[in-house]
Amino acid sequence: MLSLDQALNQMLAQLPSPSSAHAKIIKLDQAVNRICAQDVVSPINVPAFDNSAMDGYAVRLSDLHRSMRLNVIGKSFAGNPFQGEWSAQSTVRIMTGAMLPPGTDAVIMQEEAECHADGTVTFKQMPKAGQHIRRCGEDIKQGEVALKSGEKLTALSLPLLASLGIAEVAVLPRLKVAILSTGDELVPVGQPLSTGKIYDTNRFSVKLMLEKLNCEVLDYGILPDDEQQFEQAFIAAQQQADLVITSGGVSVGEADFTKTVLEKIGRINFWKIAIKPGKPFAFGKLENAWFCGLPGNPVSALVTFYQLVQPAIAKLSGHTAWQPPRRLPAVAAVKLKKAPGRQDFQRGNYRLNAQGQLEVAPIGFQGSHMFSSFVKSNCFIVLEAERGDVGAGETVTIEPFNDILG
Ligand code: AMP
Ligand code: MG
Repeated sequence: MLSLDQALNQMLAQLPSPSSAHAKIIKLDQAVNRICAQDVVSPINVPAFDNSAMDGYAVRLSDLHRSMRLNVIGKSFAGNPFQGEWSAQSTVRIMTGAMLPPGTDAVIMQEEAECHADGTVTFKQMPKAGQHIRRCGEDIKQGEVALKSGEKLTALSLPLLASLGIAEVAVLPRLKVAILSTGDELVPVGQPLSTGKIYDTNRFSVKLMLEKLNCEVLDYGILPDDEQQFEQAFIAAQQQADLVITSGGVSVGEADFTKTVLEKIGRINFWKIAIKPGKPFAFGKLENAWFCGLPGNPVSALVTFYQLVQPAIAKLSGHTAWQPPRRLPAVAAVKLKKAPGRQDFQRGNYRLNAQGQLEVAPIGFQGSHMFSSFVKSNCFIVLEAERGDVGAGETVTIEPFNDILG
């Protein structure tokens, strides 16, 4: 059996990243969740000019060294700078975001100023040079890389590009992913169940996670356990898609045709991965597409998608800035059952306890057919392969669910 890390390394080493030759330029408001295809260089300084961080008075320190009383000679508003001539012993009333009059070197808050009927203003304290001034280019400098190629365009990065006046961005193509479920027992949701049949969970969970990853999903439905139909469907799917994802039929039962068919039409490895849940997993290449075969049990299908397919999709999509889900130490609130041998991904609930520590409790049932366990949990409890039962109070590793499960 391979460890999860070994399987991941082998898989990622084989998968290519897309070439930026396939990039397309699109409008900013169409670009959310797309992957940036080129470094974006700022055409301007941000801020574009020195401006005030406060409502108050723009001053020259040299004037204040002579007298703390200055003549108010005009106003500078955001968008409407002071246009007048500067004379000695003067100040300009200035609002937040307004351009600093040339030669002024500090802003004094209006709360620290006293206005007089004769049009003068006095200040109690000498300001520090540069106080309450936002300097030109202190956020981003003209020519600086504002966003790197391989980053996802999000509600954080797109407004940044907008603030630079960039209206279009080069993005990589969305990955096309074909999905299909296998099994004579499967019925699509919306149809009645007859004896011995079950509803197809995996096509639904996989499709929704793929949509969160901004893939284009091609749904090939449910395949009955029939060798010929497998072959036809796999050939059709790999002609249309960059990646084909199936579920079920990857182990060695009498109705598990995935292996026979894929060995005939592609280069596929059938891996037993030392994780629980999720042992059988297939990975390889068909003529035109990559292939991932998930185990049939819905919990195993989700765990293997999350741990193996998610990073594979990041690589194939060119999302080089993708980060694996964060892992954190937490205290086990209760005893956890664990047999040494495989790395365990139990479903759990973490919270900050009264002592300010992260504490995690498993949800009751951990069977790989019990999908309800996910709804009650907010993290994986990741237990090392060699570890046995965990006592209450011991430290374990948790992995809070990322937004593909949100
Ligand atoms: P298999 O890997 O095909 O042997 O399936 C393992 C278990 O998962 C069996 O109990 C199947 O009925 C179940 N299963 C397979 N595919 C699905 C699916 N798409 N949705 C729900 N259960 C499934
Ligand atoms: Mg099956």
